[in-house]
Amino acid sequence: MKRVVIKVGSHVLTQDGSLAYDRIKNLCSLIAKAMDRYELLLVSSGAVAAGWTKLPLDRRLLANKQALAAVGQPYLISVYQACFDRYEIVVSQLLLGADDFDSRRRTEHARDAVETLLKHKVLPIINENDVTTTEELIFGDNDQLSAHVAYYFDADMLIILSDIDGYYDKDPRVHSDAKILKRVHNIEKEKLELECLPNGEFATGGIVTKLKAANFLLERGKPMFMASGFDLSDVESFLLEDKHKGGTLFEPR
Ligand code: GLU
Repeated sequence: MKRVVIKVGSHVLTQDGSLAYDRIKNLCSLIAKAMDRYELLLVSSGAVAAGWTKLPLDRRLLANKQALAAVGQPYLISVYQACFDRYEIVVSQLLLGADDFDSRRRTEHARDAVETLLKHKVLPIINENDVTTTEELIFGDNDQLSAHVAYYFDADMLIILSDIDGYYDKDPRVHSDAKILKRVHNIEKEKLELECLPNGEFATGGIVTKLKAANFLLERGKPMFMASGFDLSDVESFLLEDKHKGGTLFEPR
């Protein structure tokens, strides 16, 4: 069975200061279907955003952000578990940080846990350990965390679902004739050095962190697919019908 990592961003999981339950339900339904064909891992952002729905602290302060993640992470996982219960899928939580991929021993421990969970058809739900990550050891955005998860846990592909439905030939916010690039084999260096500008209040990424994630994988010979997390039809056709209708496939040559 092929192994796929799906990453979903905070902006997709929340709406108007609350969790976007319908979108989460749709995501769970897609994952449940895909688990018949693939070994799946989910990298989910949204801890800070979920925490804020319970305790609206100013997230610009690091200590507040860490507290929000501590409140939001178990809430988010409980929502996922309730959602996956109807498919009889057991979920698990793995909180990782950049240092877990710096040390071979720590990576191996995490990989052993992942292998055991997948063997028993448990869905690993991964997030950065926002409470303990210090500035030097932070991914800060789950796009790059998910690329590391895909590479170090031997996935065949990473799928990023976000408010960005693909990689455009020019900025779609400025140019109405911008077109989605369907296949990309390499990313120009200057594109990777642009400033990271997240689209949402709780999002950390933006297109640049997604390109960095794609580049990390392309350099290591693995593909990444990027599509809308609001409308799952493109990712659904791609994963379940082998049809590439929308979204961008970053594919090594
Ligand atoms: N780990 C953060 C959270 O769960 C989000 C990081 C990101 O936006 O990629 O809130």
